[in-house]
Amino acid sequence: MHAIHSRLAQHFLDAFSGAEHEHFSHVQSQPIQQPTAVIENRELAMEMGFEQSLFDNPANLALLSGNTIPNNIQPIALVYAGHQFGVWAGQLGDGRAMTLGEIEVAGELWDLQLKGAGTTPYSRFGDGRAVLRSSIREYLCSEAMHALGIDTTRALCLINSSTPVYRESVESAAVVCRVARSHIRFGSFEHHHYRGQTGALKALADYLLERHFPTTKRDGEGYRELFENAVVKTAQTIAKWQAIGFSHGVMNTDNMSILGDTIDYGPFGFMDSYDPNFICNHSDNRGRYAFKNQPSIGLWNLNALATALSSLMPSEHLIAALERYESEYQAGFLRAMASKLGLAQIEPGDRMMIDNLLAILASNRVDYCNFFRALCHYRPDRDNRVIGDLFIQRSDFDHWSGDYNERLRNETLDEELRERNMRAVNPKYILRNYMAQEAIDAAQQGNYDLTRQLLMILQTPFDEHPEFERYAASPPDWAAALSVSCSS
Ligand code: AMP
Ligand code: MG
Repeated sequence: MHAIHSRLAQHFLDAFSGAEHEHFSHVQSQPIQQPTAVIENRELAMEMGFEQSLFDNPANLALLSGNTIPNNIQPIALVYAGHQFGVWAGQLGDGRAMTLGEIEVAGELWDLQLKGAGTTPYSRFGDGRAVLRSSIREYLCSEAMHALGIDTTRALCLINSSTPVYRESVESAAVVCRVARSHIRFGSFEHHHYRGQTGALKALADYLLERHFPTTKRDGEGYRELFENAVVKTAQTIAKWQAIGFSHGVMNTDNMSILGDTIDYGPFGFMDSYDPNFICNHSDNRGRYAFKNQPSIGLWNLNALATALSSLMPSEHLIAALERYESEYQAGFLRAMASKLGLAQIEPGDRMMIDNLLAILASNRVDYCNFFRALCHYRPDRDNRVIGDLFIQRSDFDHWSGDYNERLRNETLDEELRERNMRAVNPKYILRNYMAQEAIDAAQQGNYDLTRQLLMILQTPFDEHPEFERYAASPPDWAAALSVSCSS
């Protein structure tokens, strides 16, 4: 039976040992009482080259709960800073997360991090804990995003405990083991920049080049590639968020991955009915992170990163890279939307047709996920009344479908193949807030069945799962009253 720690390396620690106070702090986990596994991600374990029985080894569960860390592993908390809601917040850091080390997967290193395992020097006034509620949300959402083809951190397992945590009410402490290609954030560079630590900043960039771009030289051209990659990947990730109807909720620069992966799931939300003004974070009073603002916030954050990297390369290179953002974003969004519509090629009028569709989805408050799933069955020469029924003004849909019919005439794929392609990109199931809430309510009573079932559905969101049909319907009325804030 595999022991996780026997495969854990500590490359980051080795690279920066001696510069401890500039990049990280050594930390110790604080045990939780009565650890119980809520979900074990056997699929991810296998992807990582472990056996499915990974979780049957008590030493692994002891490690993943933070209760017993073997002597050969020195957990570290990373320091970073950030702009929060557009305002410089100064030093932050892993206040409740600790990196155990890295595991090599197919020639790449993946970080293993425990979230909620106790305080660190960066905890400020926090208790270093994560509650079961927010841990279930993070777990389910990151796995859902992965299944939807969006680059993201993953979750290997989630452990609940009887350790009390005090939020608006008393909740239980949980620990998520998060897996990521990198935990370095835009804010990691901002931290060094604003402290004038140019040597530390360069060392961090060199580390990233060595780890993620091994063939690239560590010089001005290499740093340029690192930043261009951040620009392009961030644009592509956000384009996918917009196409799937996902709102992150807290796009602070400390929650932006240098590799452009989705990270730090807090008060996120998938849209039910289509609404560009959707604000998923109850604490976001001014709507800075409203759904429609995400693409421009991505660029704002990259500007903050460019400033932080200004000691590494000439400003012309930073500006040239930033100028790629808009076109990368637009191309990514168009590609994603065209495939949702089943279009094999993109034609000049497609953007207009997509914008017209989004406008009528918004004015008719149509369920975004369900519309596209229903559209998979669309046939130009047949009655598509079931889809039209989703609209308050059916004539809006009838009018749009005239254009869609016209456009489909130029497509060469046969209808069955188009339907199959569409069903592979338009999920039947997304993580709606009320679904997470039902799973959380049951888990708080000690029943984890629903959480596990949801994980299975969300890992295969394009499958029919007829026994879970109710989760493919529009949300129940009580869901409208749910609110999600930063409290986690
Ligand atoms: P977030 O809004 O979750 O991205 O967190 C912002 C900062 O607050 C990060 O540096 C977190 O590590 C820290 N933080 C959030 N919650 C806690 C907590 N319960 N204990 C310690 N630090 C926390
Ligand atoms: Mg964060």
